[in-house]
Amino acid sequence: MNDCDVIVVGAGPSGSEAAWALARRGLRVGLVTDSLDSVYRLETPVDSPPRGGLLARVWSADTWELHRRAKYALEAEETLRLFQSSVTGLLHGGGRVTGVKTWEGFSYRAGAVVLAVGSFLGAVLRAGALEEAAGRLGEAAYPDLYEHLRGLGFAFEPDSYLVPESDGAPAYTVSFQRFAPGEREEASGGLLRLPGLYAVGRVALGHTPAPVRAASGRALGEVLVPGGSG
Ligand SMILES: Cc1cc2nc3c(=O)[nH]c(=O)nc-3n(C[C@H](O)[C@H](O)[C@H](O)COP(=O)(O)OP(=O)(O)OC[C@H]3O[C@@H](n4cnc5c(N)ncnc54)[C@H](O)[C@@H]3O)c2cc1C
Repeated sequence: MNDCDVIVVGAGPSGSEAAWALARRGLRVGLVTDSLDSVYRLETPVDSPPRGGLLARVWSADTWELHRRAKYALEAEETLRLFQSSVTGLLHGGGRVTGVKTWEGFSYRAGAVVLAVGSFLGAVLRAGALEEAAGRLGEAAYPDLYEHLRGLGFAFEPDSYLVPESDGAPAYTVSFQRFAPGEREEASGGLLRLPGLYAVGRVALGHTPAPVRAASGRALGEVLVPGGSG
């Protein structure tokens, strides 16, 4: 018996949009993320609201206010459960994904799993002479999930992006690993190596603007059929 229909890992723009769109369709969604304090946290503001989805509903030019509104909207969805936990690996059997394992020791079963883990696989932040691999403040970027996916045979390629200096905070570069192009079917977002597993946002598309990453999550959430062939 599954704990929910779909588990979404990571509550950044792409994961939050996917989870919200799935829940609006009445599906039971588990949205699991490293830190509830960084749900829909953008590193730079989106200047004007895009059309459609959660971002349009909760948009604010103030990134903290956007985070607060998005978290509130997600928690208000009856079939969505938002919780803080760190996913270390996937459960699989019968040739498809069946759920996730967490660092805390719990496992959750679902008909589909969406990886929306942003730039957290093999991540390193560089700001001037500082080099850090520990993750965003309060969010440990453990290597477990990345190593687990590599152990399953998934191929990755390196990517990086620069966050410019703002409000006195120095500029920084984040280097990370994203799924190699041949791993993912573009139209469905499905990862070909393990049916039922999907990827959206930076871990799938590489570095793109936040509204594009949000749209990738929303598009998947509007069509994904748990237990389907994708
Ligand atoms: C080492 C390092 C340190 C950093 N420190 C800071 C900092 O102190 N302050 C700051 O503003 N920015 C920091 N950043 C930058 C920040 O992480 C990114 O710039 C950006 O805000 C996150 O965007 P994203 O696309 O990676 O993730 P998003 O798509 O926005 O979010 C992905 C979400 O997935 C969650 N997630 C990832 N892996 C898992 C998992 N296995 N289980 C559960 N949830 C998971 C993450 O917690 C995250 O919330 C740091 C980055 C790195 C690599």
